Amino acid sequence: MNQRATILAPWAVACAAAFLPAQAATLSAERVEEVLGYLASDALGGRDTPSRGLEEAAQFLAWSFSRAGLEPGAAVGEAPDWFHRYTLPGQQVDTSGVELRLTSADGGEVLLRPGTDFRLWDAGRAFTAEGIPMAPEPEDADSDPARVRRQMAAAAPTFVVTPAKHPAWRAAEGARTTLRRRGRGGAAPTILLRPGAAEGTETIAALRVPAPTEVDVPLRNVVAILPGTDLADEIVVVGAHYDHVGIRPRADGSDGIYNGADDDATGTTAVLLLAEHFAAQAVRTRRSLAFVCFSAEEKGLQGSRAFVADPPFELSRVAAMVNLEMLGRPEKEGPPFAWVTGKEYSDFAAIAGAALERAGVALTEFEMASRLFSASDNLPFAQAGVVAHSISAGTLHSDYHQPGDEPSRIDVPHMTAVLAGLAEVVAEFANREGRPAYTPEAAERLNGTRR
Ligand SMILES: [Zn+2]
Repeated sequence: MNQRATILAPWAVACAAAFLPAQAATLSAERVEEVLGYLASDALGGRDTPSRGLEEAAQFLAWSFSRAGLEPGAAVGEAPDWFHRYTLPGQQVDTSGVELRLTSADGGEVLLRPGTDFRLWDAGRAFTAEGIPMAPEPEDADSDPARVRRQMAAAAPTFVVTPAKHPAWRAAEGARTTLRRRGRGGAAPTILLRPGAAEGTETIAALRVPAPTEVDVPLRNVVAILPGTDLADEIVVVGAHYDHVGIRPRADGSDGIYNGADDDATGTTAVLLLAEHFAAQAVRTRRSLAFVCFSAEEKGLQGSRAFVADPPFELSRVAAMVNLEMLGRPEKEGPPFAWVTGKEYSDFAAIAGAALERAGVALTEFEMASRLFSASDNLPFAQAGVVAHSISAGTLHSDYHQPGDEPSRIDVPHMTAVLAGLAEVVAEFANREGRPAYTPEAAERLNGTRR
């Protein structure tokens, strides 16, 4: 829970930022807290793809890039645009089309009112059930996602008792749009029940969920450019994903908002602050800088895959891609540090490490760093031949992909120190003579995984 962000409306936070003096120090702890506090606030509901909170975050990022003096990095036709647009296959279903009748303990039948007594959280596919026990989750149960998945796999509908003030209840109002799931699962629906709408002793007389409507879900990556000087035709991409996993229904009374403060509001905050930093410099970098905030990373790197499939600039122009992931939870005392995924694949880490150390940030090892090379938005770029790695400055902590990934748990002094190092890294890749290169073995291997 972020107190400030819940008291102020999102745009009040953004507008307060607009009145900062023009010469305010860039890369400051105050600016980290402000941007991170907004992106990871409950108001944005965990930035699921797709969701209203995700769209608000995209607007905020575009508006902030514009205010800092950057140029739109994408286009609609000939017109410059802040958004690289793409669609993903989705499905939409409206609770009003769902029928839910119960047989109560005394044998009578009760027709529950859609929208009022229940709302559809997850439609799965067209679903019909009769004569099965109701068994709603008790209000003190912990309806963890793994359990919900197991129930769905068992083809039994899941009922979660959800108060009207819960974010999930509000998010399920009217027609609900979700991305179409790939692979197995999703057979049975998840239904939110108003407290008191069912006693738990009933059987389901009939549950009918109509087939969802197939839709193309419009989505956006946010792209901003700062033109370079003598090597302006080459580009250094600085990226992070601004989406997270959203809200999950919770029967235990908790808010169920997965704030994604570390993952990856920290990386997104860093992208914006680095853009503000370089835009405020009197001298431009030699290469152009592209700042890109990706959506749908948590849905399988879909935003960066769409970007690479239909890039707003030739990928051969990209000298290096610096992807930023989870910068704010070092989980230990000591001097600031950062690590690079898949550092054995290229000379990227050696170049980045020297730059980090100039700012007093140590380049460290992380036991899963090799495997995590394939776990973020650098991967589609790498598969397209661009030298692209993720830089992290923390660990896979116990709040990773949990509701506890809250802005209050971010180590802001650590992240601010790391940001100074990242500014050195970006400047180094933008100004040095040559480009980083994959080892021949890595180049061959990545070529084999291109899709
Ligand atoms: Zn992430």
